Amino acid sequence: MFRKILIANRGEIAVRIIRACKELGIETVAVYSKADEHALHKELASETVCIGEASALDSYLNMERLISAACLTGCDAIHPGFGFLSENPTFARMVEKCGLVFIGPNPDVMEKMGNKAEAVASMISAGVPVVPGSHKAVTMEEGRKIADEVGYPVLVKASAGGGGKGIRKVNSHDEFEELYNEAHEEAIKFFANGDIYVEKCIINPKHIEVQLLADKHGHVIHLFERNCSMQRRNQKMLEEAPCQSISKELKQKLYKSAIDACKYVNYDSVGTIEFLVDKDENYYFIEMNTRIQVEHCVTEEITHIDIVKAMIKSAYGLNLEYKQEDVKCLGYAIECRIAAEDVSNDFRPCPGEISFLHIPGGMGVRVDSSVYPGYKISPYYDSMILKLIVFSKTRLECIRKMRAALEELIIDGVNTTTEFHYVLLHDPKYILGNYDTSFIENFIKELNSNAKRIR
Ligand code: ADP
Repeated sequence: MFRKILIANRGEIAVRIIRACKELGIETVAVYSKADEHALHKELASETVCIGEASALDSYLNMERLISAACLTGCDAIHPGFGFLSENPTFARMVEKCGLVFIGPNPDVMEKMGNKAEAVASMISAGVPVVPGSHKAVTMEEGRKIADEVGYPVLVKASAGGGGKGIRKVNSHDEFEELYNEAHEEAIKFFANGDIYVEKCIINPKHIEVQLLADKHGHVIHLFERNCSMQRRNQKMLEEAPCQSISKELKQKLYKSAIDACKYVNYDSVGTIEFLVDKDENYYFIEMNTRIQVEHCVTEEITHIDIVKAMIKSAYGLNLEYKQEDVKCLGYAIECRIAAEDVSNDFRPCPGEISFLHIPGGMGVRVDSSVYPGYKISPYYDSMILKLIVFSKTRLECIRKMRAALEELIIDGVNTTTEFHYVLLHDPKYILGNYDTSFIENFIKELNSNAKRIR
């Protein structure tokens, strides 16, 4: 097994990976920027290296510094976590060239699946259903022609996109040019790649994704699905596993397509295939995430499989520990992404000092976080500060448990989404469970029109 791993990340995912390494008897090196001198991941790791200034470009995105830090501390592998360089094939190749193992898929498959337009083209060859559209990067004129053919509304999407950035909904021919250009500019700004492709907009779909585990020996299994339809501006706020509002037949189709997709591209690590499902249960591949995801915890809870440990073992070259028939769905799990944001001010990030913190507990309550009382939330990074995850036998028990956990959770000093999540967990439409990606927008409209004050 690896002797020492450098974690090229920060926050709760760095803490999560350090915990997995400790269980595997692997030493860890935490890297940190000058803004993260008091970060928790730094306290928990075996060794630490400062890699630069607060700006991510100067630290967590600086490939040379990360690799130098790994070499100087005698690491044999680098775990990229999520975000930052986790889906960057250039980084993965550089890591390997320096004689280290990149804990993730091989760079070729990462490159192929990381470009969303190219991934869609591969999925067509693999026989996986995709959304009608251009299926490749297109110019404004080409894209508009395709949009006219498939019918409006369409989405213009950044090929290199992620985190809901570089996506625009276009309702008519006349709007196309302006919105294409907006998405293109945003794509250049966020991903340094302005390629845009066009997809038919599926009306009010569910976002259902399948978690996969693969090794370097051709074995692939699924760990069931997650319902990630609770999104604000294409970004997930709450996730559940499994999904109770789709049929058993559809689930089997999704698992089969996800495994076919993985095998077709020789995928060899932990990954996720994301699908949209329409009201008639037609399903469409939208993208693959070639990394660990924020919401992996709900799948860990329902399967009792440690996905981060599985990822490390797979990167080391071990065979998958589990056969498909060994994997059981043992209950239900829900995750709330608690962010330091001001809900009443359009969810604006709220950096600042946590003056008081009380973390909930009890059976089936899990908190993945990196904050503590006195912790100063930095304005430089993502505003998500804590993931609250509950597990129980049934969805209803989970909802009750999550409400109780949210009641217990106290974060003082900064505004957070805790109360927003609490109100959401009481919404009758949410409780019924048959919600889609349009839910949150309507929920927020309703809250505002009722003039309810939420913090
Ligand atoms: P990102 O990588 O930025 O997260 P995705 O392609 O995964 O982008 O899409 C994010 C979200 O945007 C989806 O979960 C869904 O809610 C919405 N979306 C994406 N493609 C479509 C589509 N063709 N039709 C309707 N909604 C879509």
